[in-house]
Amino acid sequence: MTTTVHRELPHALRRHFRGAVLQPGEEGYDEARRVWNGAIDRHPALIARCAGADDVQAAVRFAREHDLPVAVRGGGHSVLGYGVCDGGVVIDLSHLKAVSVDPAGRVARAAGGLTWAEFDLATGRHGLATTGGSVSSTGIGGVTLGGGFGHLMRRHGLTVDNLRAADLVTADGERLRVDAATEPELLWGLRGGGGNFGVVTAFEYDLHPVGPVVLGGPIFWPLEQATQVLRFLREFAPTAPDELGVAVVAMLAPPMPFLPPERYGTPVLGLLPVWCGDLAEGAAALAPLRAVGRPVGDLVRPVPYRAVQSLLDLSASPGNGSYWRSHRLPDLSDAAIDIVVDLVASITSPLSLLNGWMIGGAVSRVAPDATAVGPREPGFELRVIANWRPGDADHERHLSWAREGWARLRPHGAGQYATFLSDEGPAGVQAAYGDRLGRLTALKDRFDPSNVFRLNPNIPTSQD
Ligand code: FAD
Repeated sequence: MTTTVHRELPHALRRHFRGAVLQPGEEGYDEARRVWNGAIDRHPALIARCAGADDVQAAVRFAREHDLPVAVRGGGHSVLGYGVCDGGVVIDLSHLKAVSVDPAGRVARAAGGLTWAEFDLATGRHGLATTGGSVSSTGIGGVTLGGGFGHLMRRHGLTVDNLRAADLVTADGERLRVDAATEPELLWGLRGGGGNFGVVTAFEYDLHPVGPVVLGGPIFWPLEQATQVLRFLREFAPTAPDELGVAVVAMLAPPMPFLPPERYGTPVLGLLPVWCGDLAEGAAALAPLRAVGRPVGDLVRPVPYRAVQSLLDLSASPGNGSYWRSHRLPDLSDAAIDIVVDLVASITSPLSLLNGWMIGGAVSRVAPDATAVGPREPGFELRVIANWRPGDADHERHLSWAREGWARLRPHGAGQYATFLSDEGPAGVQAAYGDRLGRLTALKDRFDPSNVFRLNPNIPTSQD
């Protein structure tokens, strides 16, 4: 099918479409096809910027009728750029922004195109929150369907553990309410199975009292002390209280005012602890961590939860090139720590980093087969992330650093998380879902046997 023919097609779609349909050459098209990862440059035949679930239905039916590939875009933060495709239809949810909060029932209903910044703003007004992504511009859609790792997870579980219901548009363009009473198996699949089963136009989440002020902020140590800090974290993790979330970051020190200028650009190890309980108890719980070695900067302080939710934004600016590979590390062995230290010392781009999470607490108390996401056991998640500025001629070198770093850590990894998969292909999907894959395949057979929704960590049908 040629582009000229495509140009004629959307008339039928436009007739009843309430949102915007954008085609190549039209105003807004180039901006709308841009995603977070600046290295992705794809040209869809059309972008269906939906105004409601009816538009999503029309877009799905249109794409199927014309046999066009489908990409679903929420917050646009898929590192592989799953939210945009070449020559197909982008079902763009980014204008679906409705959100309502029932403070008494502690439930939020949120449209599929919200970002975490928008979600946190709405729930935070009531002193409530649910576990969400740690970069405020990520979409609730992709984060939720992939599992949802965040600062609150050790206290309140993954985002999926707080997902009670979803409104779905299926591959047939039908609307389906998915909850424990109507579609329990599909709800199970949406809790970690990604965008494989349809387009979620609205999510319903359990909320919890959080903050408004929590105790948190980054602590940075020079690389010479990284081994000591990571060994401490290994011993500390099993007994750490649930209220404490810890993100790990290793990078070249950013030029931030709380760090000594002579450290800028030198390798550092950072922890980002966030305590979501009583502040005095948090200060006591965090004291041993803050006393390790001699940090070059410690910004832990009482801070609004919403501010914590954007603390990592600076390390994740949109428009740069990005690539990552991730491992789940059951433990921080001495050998794995040595590799981490070596990787930071040999980083090739000032924007690249290692970033990860301490898993455990409430995450690990959910049964392994209760949701599609896994593994649940305590441990660590760690990504080797190459980032580079647009036009950086050295970007292949940055990619090699990430790939080789991931390969070196591989003997210490066990399993992966679907949401942090990259270009591993079917082997990655198998590693992420393990023995849950059969159950997910049965759902794929039922809800998307033609694999309409394939731009994602793709669950195979039984025919594949
Ligand atoms: P998009 O690119 O819009 O969507 C990615 C894919 O998700 C889509 O192609 C589609 O398959 C699916 N999808 C999205 N919305 C819907 C929907 N409403 N219905 C059906 N399918 C949908 N993950 C965490 O768990 N915690 C973090 O703290 C975290 N931080 C991150 C920070 C950065 C800078 C980046 C780049 C990623 C981060 N991630 C994190 C990973 C993140 O969960 C995934 O990249 C996720 O896919 C992003 O969702 P999105 O909606 O923004 O992306």
